[in-house]
Amino acid sequence: MDDIFLNYDYGAMESGNTIGGITVTGSKGVNWMNTYCIDLGSGAGGSFTFTSSVGDISSIVISAQTISVEGLSTGWSATSTALSWSGTPAASVTLSASSGGTIYTISQIVFTIGTNAYTVTWNNWDGTELEKDTDVEEGATPAYDGVTPTKAEDNNNTYEFSGWTDGTTTYGLNDALPSVTGDVTYTAVFEAISKDPCAKGHSYGEPAWFWADDLSTAKATFVCDGCKESTTLDAEVTNEGYIYTAKVTIGGKEYTDTQDNTPALENTSYAVNESVKVGERIEIAGSAEGGAAPVTYQYFFKRSENTKWNTIKPATDAGTYAKFTPTKAASYDIKVTATDADGVCVSKIFTIESVDEL
Ligand SMILES: [Zn+2]
Repeated sequence: MDDIFLNYDYGAMESGNTIGGITVTGSKGVNWMNTYCIDLGSGAGGSFTFTSSVGDISSIVISAQTISVEGLSTGWSATSTALSWSGTPAASVTLSASSGGTIYTISQIVFTIGTNAYTVTWNNWDGTELEKDTDVEEGATPAYDGVTPTKAEDNNNTYEFSGWTDGTTTYGLNDALPSVTGDVTYTAVFEAISKDPCAKGHSYGEPAWFWADDLSTAKATFVCDGCKESTTLDAEVTNEGYIYTAKVTIGGKEYTDTQDNTPALENTSYAVNESVKVGERIEIAGSAEGGAAPVTYQYFFKRSENTKWNTIKPATDAGTYAKFTPTKAASYDIKVTATDADGVCVSKIFTIESVDEL
């Protein structure tokens, strides 16, 4: 809005009068203001309040031939020829004085209505001025139009422009800067980016594992891909049967290694009786140690002098027991095969003598 110029005629600004949307109210009945003088209470002190109905007043300048007042209210200042006020825009501004000195020959009062204009200064991190925006209207959003600020690298870091600070608050590149309410200086802010490849932590691949002979403990040695630094950690070892698992956590990631301690499959099948009378049965127990469970058994027989094996049907559902009755007095070979879950098969052959008389 344009400034309002009030050129006073005699008597025009008596208390209560309104000109150009500005109402002047004197604190005392004797207060008055005209083209000749302003009387702030005829020596006793007094006040004028300027109230605008056309927008907030942001400045007032009262020009006069001479000015002599004391104890001016906040925001007002005086030279020998002008009284002026400039502050936070307000609908109502009061001029008061303690001694009520007289101003002679007021030539003009200028009210500035509306927003103030401010200066926004943009500095680099070291204080170098990058841009200065003057006459930025109050309420406008500050905008930097210059080249992206830079900061030279040093021994440890490179620097990436990351926003602005007003000295109190730091704003990121995606943050909105607050609207202008006064002169403000923004200083560029930089994020330091370490030249150390491991500044944000080491980077590890699979470790080398070292197991105790009895698999009760294990260690894992990691070598950083970035700095080659080596780190050895004790693993947490658990086992499920013969399978041992070692676990370590580094950099938030878990690494595991397993060892299979399963003993080799040993066929321990046996015949309950090593010699029998003809017609008596031979009882055969299928058994094994080690190997991957479960172990299954098959049973065979043949006369020792022959080469062809004959199958004996297991006597139990579990297949761990079989029985065979020789029909002749002869030497019989019994074969038991034990096969574990991994398909490992171990045979055991033993010879039973079938005789007429024990
Ligand atoms: Zn590293």
